[in-house]
Amino acid sequence: MRASGRLHVGNYLGGARGMVALQEDPGYETLYMVADLHAITTPYDKKSLAGDARNVIVDYLSVGLDPEKSTIFIQSHVAEVTELAYYFSSVVSVARMSRLPTYKEKLRNQPLSSSMALLSYPVLMAADILMYKAHLVPVGIDQEPHLEVAREIVKKMNAQYGTNFPEPNRFKTEGEYVPSLTGVGKMSKSVAGSAISLGDDLDTIRERLLKVPTDEGKGESIPETGGVASLLTLVGLFQGEERRSQYERDYTAEGVKYGSLKEELAAVIYDELRPIQERRKELLEKPGYIDNVIREGAEIAHIEAQKTLEEVRERMGIKSKT
Ligand code: ADP
Repeated sequence: MRASGRLHVGNYLGGARGMVALQEDPGYETLYMVADLHAITTPYDKKSLAGDARNVIVDYLSVGLDPEKSTIFIQSHVAEVTELAYYFSSVVSVARMSRLPTYKEKLRNQPLSSSMALLSYPVLMAADILMYKAHLVPVGIDQEPHLEVAREIVKKMNAQYGTNFPEPNRFKTEGEYVPSLTGVGKMSKSVAGSAISLGDDLDTIRERLLKVPTDEGKGESIPETGGVASLLTLVGLFQGEERRSQYERDYTAEGVKYGSLKEELAAVIYDELRPIQERRKELLEKPGYIDNVIREGAEIAHIEAQKTLEEVRERMGIKSKT
């Protein structure tokens, strides 16, 4: 997750829930970081960056990441990742990077901030993943094109230099695509009015849902896009597929009353967020504990990172100082 403000429901369902699921599976060793170096690929506030990164760590802990089971750290604390990204950048073409849908979209939204860092974002992401030889990455479907780049880098590195990076795959979750409350595109931090934050209280969630554009509540077929489709997806994710099917049947029969749908949905979403918010409050009273989690996470990640870098340098013919 990028260090750019509090997490939202899309980050939670698409990313964090999968992170917790993998952590709880004894078959996996899990490492999770907060991407502060990725946050500077678009305009950001240097005064709040460090606080934002720490806030995401607190959100990670609030949703159930456990430092006894997972290594939890801040990306820039293992600065070796930038060196690995640099080596990887030698096996990807500029043309390939500039064709990526995420890059093109960001460029459309912020045409004046097309930095080299933004273009090479997926290369740094590949380094984040491959530094720890990760097989699975719990991210939303919007990140699939970036994982494809990571797999291409693996193939090239292994073929050209004989490294042994595994090809990483996405660990899919039910909420891999949470639509925006505006009815257009995905729920995102950077689109105003699109998201429900993990920190929202019941009234705020209600207000946000009230603004979702709807129709007359009746029709021959269920809308596949727009506000109604977003609401139905949220119903499916938070209240279950059965409740969603019931609304869909109502839509093609006597009609759906959006006022009560939104009221019910707001209550269910808040029920899920409330324990997360309570845990967050408790954690904020223990700043020393959070500091420790961040420090110890970086120490463990650092050891792994040095091993990988040493191996890559040697394979690429870059000799370490003696
Ligand atoms: P944002 O797009 O809100 O700035 P990030 O780019 O920091 O969020 O993404 C962090 C994680 O959350 C990634 O795993 C991403 O795939 C996931 N994610 C972001 N938005 C959504 C969404 N609307 N639905 C599902 N997953 C999402």
